[in-house]
Amino acid sequence: MATASEVENVDVVVLGMGPGGESAAGELAAAGLAVVGVEARLVGGECPYYGCIPSKIMIRAGNAVAEAHRVPGLAGTVQAHPDFSQVARRIRDEATDNWNDAAAAKRFTGKGGVLVRGTGRLSGPREVTVDLHDGGRRTFRARLAVVLNPGTNPAVPDVPGLAGTPFWTNREAVQAADAPASLIVWGGGAVAVELAQAFTRFGTKVTMVLRGPRLLSREEPEAGQLLAKVFREEGIKVLRNRDVTAVSHKDGKFSLELSPAGGRSGGSRSTRLTAGQLLVATGRTQALAGVGLSEAGIVWDGKAAPELDDHLQLADGLYLIGDAAGAGAFTHMSMHHGNIVTGHILARHNGQPDRGGADNHAVPHVTFTDPEIGGVGLTEQQAREAGLEVRVGFTDLADSTRGWIHKSGNQGFIKVVQDASSGVLVGATSAGPMGGEVLSMLALAVHARIPVATLKTMVYAYPTFHRAVPEALKDLA
Ligand SMILES: Cc1cc2nc3c(=O)[nH]c(=O)nc-3n(C[C@H](O)[C@H](O)[C@H](O)COP(=O)(O)OP(=O)(O)OC[C@H]3O[C@@H](n4cnc5c(N)ncnc54)[C@H](O)[C@@H]3O)c2cc1C
Repeated sequence: MATASEVENVDVVVLGMGPGGESAAGELAAAGLAVVGVEARLVGGECPYYGCIPSKIMIRAGNAVAEAHRVPGLAGTVQAHPDFSQVARRIRDEATDNWNDAAAAKRFTGKGGVLVRGTGRLSGPREVTVDLHDGGRRTFRARLAVVLNPGTNPAVPDVPGLAGTPFWTNREAVQAADAPASLIVWGGGAVAVELAQAFTRFGTKVTMVLRGPRLLSREEPEAGQLLAKVFREEGIKVLRNRDVTAVSHKDGKFSLELSPAGGRSGGSRSTRLTAGQLLVATGRTQALAGVGLSEAGIVWDGKAAPELDDHLQLADGLYLIGDAAGAGAFTHMSMHHGNIVTGHILARHNGQPDRGGADNHAVPHVTFTDPEIGGVGLTEQQAREAGLEVRVGFTDLADSTRGWIHKSGNQGFIKVVQDASSGVLVGATSAGPMGGEVLSMLALAVHARIPVATLKTMVYAYPTFHRAVPEALKDLA
């Protein structure tokens, strides 16, 4: 039972210690401020324990298996005997310390921060009340700032029969001790495609169920088409335009009832799908709904991202960072936000130079499938919807010298989107082996608004994958 408490005065409260919250809280504490970090689960948030890091360990291992299968035709023969238990061990022992955040907590408290474990809510404009895990309650009033970094949770659709079954979200999938014999992946976004391919490479028979017509629907359509082709070749079945209308779990098997999405007529008839495991990867829900914005006088409809100023303030001294800020649900955005906010707080506190505000015209992101899909800025469709005078250039990576040398596993493309009136790239996609690395030069071009005419005068090393970039630029029309 929570007890009433006196208000404790501090400089800064960070509510939610995701990647940006953790780095901001640590830096502000190291700068000598009295900082309280409030965390309900694990310091570091989704990325190190349930997201980026464990999923990329699975992908790295799966890619090694896929490369072994590419030896015939290039270098003789090799036998691969994939063993998922090694992956599981690496995630548990090396990456997450068995889902224990003691090291991260110590990193923060070692800088002078105070970690408060519990669930926090705003109880005033710069006041946070925490229901402690041990049953008590503490209230903190922040002199300088409250930084909200609540992040997201896996969205679980309200479908008859699903609740109470042992289905996976990303959080259970990365804790799997073994690869299941068969898996239904419900969803077609980045988390879904990455985990679908990773498990496939350890022998799991994967079927994906998509509500819409394509994989990676937020990317360029060519990215979804490419992945669909690669997945077909790898034996991953992709069912499109389907709603899941019921789920059941019996005798260790999941059964899903599927019908045409949105009750469309003329589509495929209702079907039933069974598998040993079900991964629900249908998106994320905002934890922001639980932090009591209205107590700070903030009106939010709970849908679109709340309105922020260019230093990510909801109100004076009340900041919102990370996935909840709505500029891209990526770790690098959360950390970028943490840096902006830290700079702003220190500038106001001790006159240090401000580090600048948010500018979202060149947000990069990578889906770590094989081939990797990297994107930055606007897609062609987004650029057209923004009313720009759009020119598009495209080149197939397999046709490049490096693609030809690479041979198996060489599928990919570069697509560039130019605003013809300013002569700069406003978006680009780099798909292929190391597509996320090739993205770096395209991200720079979009970020720094380098004229296409200048990019065309650059010398590109031979025979690299990034030498496909000038081919895409030549194609701009
Ligand atoms: C499977 C998967 C793979 C991913 N891979 C990548 C990748 O490769 N690259 C990439 O950039 N991104 C990736 N992401 C996204 C990335 O994990 C997030 O963008 C990142 O964690 C940043 O989120 P955040 O800062 O908003 O907060 P989160 O990481 O969501 O952390 C928020 C924290 O706040 C705490 N919290 C919430 N409400 C309260 C409250 N009321 N009181 C106290 N504490 C609270 C939560 O417990 C949590 O620890 C992946 C995500 C998933 C699911």
